[in-house]
Amino acid sequence: MVSAKSDNLKLQGLAASPGIAIGMARVTDRSKVPVVEQPIDPADRAAEIMRFRQSVDRVREELHALKVQLETERGPEHLFVLDTHLLILDDAMLTDQTTAIIETECINAEGALKRTLNRYREFFNGIDDEYLRERASDVEIVGERILRQMAGVSQEPLLELDGKVIVIAHDLSPADVLQIDKSRVIGFVTDLGGKTSHSAILARALEIPAVVGVETATATIKSGDRLIIDGATGAVVLNPDDETFREYLRCKQYYEYCERELAKLRGLPAETVDGHRILLKGNVEFVEEVPSLQGHGGEGVGLFRTEMLFMNRTDLPGEEEQFAAYVAMVKAMSPAPVSIRTLDVGGDKFVSDLNLDDELNPAMGLRAIRLSLRNAETFRPQLRAILRASAFGRVRIFFPMISGVAEVREVKRLVREVMDELRREGIPFDETIKLGVMIEVPSAVLTADLLAREVDFFSVGTNDLIQYTLAIDRTNEHLSHLFEPLHPAILRSLKLVVDAAHAAGIEACICGEMAGEPAYLPILLGLGFDELSMSPPSIPRVKQILRRCSRAEARELVARAMELSTADQVDTFLRGEISARFSDSID
Ligand code: PEP
Ligand code: MG
Repeated sequence: MVSAKSDNLKLQGLAASPGIAIGMARVTDRSKVPVVEQPIDPADRAAEIMRFRQSVDRVREELHALKVQLETERGPEHLFVLDTHLLILDDAMLTDQTTAIIETECINAEGALKRTLNRYREFFNGIDDEYLRERASDVEIVGERILRQMAGVSQEPLLELDGKVIVIAHDLSPADVLQIDKSRVIGFVTDLGGKTSHSAILARALEIPAVVGVETATATIKSGDRLIIDGATGAVVLNPDDETFREYLRCKQYYEYCERELAKLRGLPAETVDGHRILLKGNVEFVEEVPSLQGHGGEGVGLFRTEMLFMNRTDLPGEEEQFAAYVAMVKAMSPAPVSIRTLDVGGDKFVSDLNLDDELNPAMGLRAIRLSLRNAETFRPQLRAILRASAFGRVRIFFPMISGVAEVREVKRLVREVMDELRREGIPFDETIKLGVMIEVPSAVLTADLLAREVDFFSVGTNDLIQYTLAIDRTNEHLSHLFEPLHPAILRSLKLVVDAAHAAGIEACICGEMAGEPAYLPILLGLGFDELSMSPPSIPRVKQILRRCSRAEARELVARAMELSTADQVDTFLRGEISARFSDSID
């Protein structure tokens, strides 16, 4: 029975994965196992430790079995999350601390594990970086599996759900998301979770509409309730009235129509009406995103952010592990090219094992290339791994946050040293590999002509370039209205960079968020960018506009925009032009 109270009730969560799903709710019990801490007889400590270790072993077997099952049924994609959980399971902190607590405090294994998990939580809670904070949930998920194992409680496997349902759960582990069969589960909603949790990342990669962080979802929604979820806005509507139902149905049909229409662009060239080609590539972090990038017609990886390899852990990945990750990406994309950016951490991206000092002003601190140059013992293995991967496909390397020529020369000297080392060892790599720099600091813009003589390509990082040029912290939500990509200072900077690149005969690419905004395409085209790299789902919309623009008109538009004095004026001018020319485009 549906109570009148819940009719047309709207809940708001976080938009985790776009798409609208309309269907029947299916609440699955993923609630936590209640844990009671109890003292034990000191004589029973060894047995209790054994019981804990056996549970850990069984969870390891369970995860391996799930991996084999999913690999056979779905193929090898997306299984990295299970590997992450296996790594957590082997983490000395988890097992050694728990056994030490049993030993010294004489308490039961469940209580000891709970205390260890609390320590992890305190550690992660103190971290500013959202991505890393979300990794705490991976530890919780593994801990919960062990607790379930000890309590002998099993979960309803999502693989066996029947019918077209929207799954409602307190939390879903990435393993749960991996098990989702899209012909049976059309979306999911969770109480917990953030946009960068592994479950949300996987939902986007698998293109399953999802809303997370609804908080009261399992308390409010019952199995059998009619439900609408909008994964692009985070809206959840419970037992919608006819009007709301019709409105969302229209939106869903329109969304699906747009996706179908945009999918038709996939095989068409990214070319203007006057025959000018621009490369449209993707920004990715995991090899699991490759099918989505290819599905959206991406012509290569324009930005492989390697920091994710370093962030989900307490130690650092060695050369072999990095090599495996880079080769996997290169092979998955082959014959399309992959531009690999070296480690860009520090600032708002935290890596625990690099022992970064607390800095008063981290955005301007020891980050990105500065950190790599200071930690050659971390940088060299990364360079070796990327160079080795270059023997398996088309690879380019580029370096973040370069502020001037001296830095580039130092980087190139290191690259040459590493190349000599590989040659001496007889290890193959691409001898003609192209080197590039991110242009994201004003000093790099102002010395772009000098930098252009040193490298093979530029890639403009507008996220940071806007932050540093306009002195607007990109992570400060109170300043977001001042984060203006169309500010005349930014347009002038972009022009300086493209002109300097072309004068030196090198490529001008752009990989900041600005590249994925269809409204900015005429400006970026008119400025002369050769390559735009963006989040894969943005590619079709950008391509659609590109295929209707002429380069000659775009150049004129830029000339007029450059005469305006404020970002608002440029914005109004651009909107006017876009609505006059592209009012019938799909948005
Ligand atoms: C940028 O700064 O625009 C960029 C692409 O790099 P990131 O967002 O990783 O700093
Ligand atoms: Mg950047």
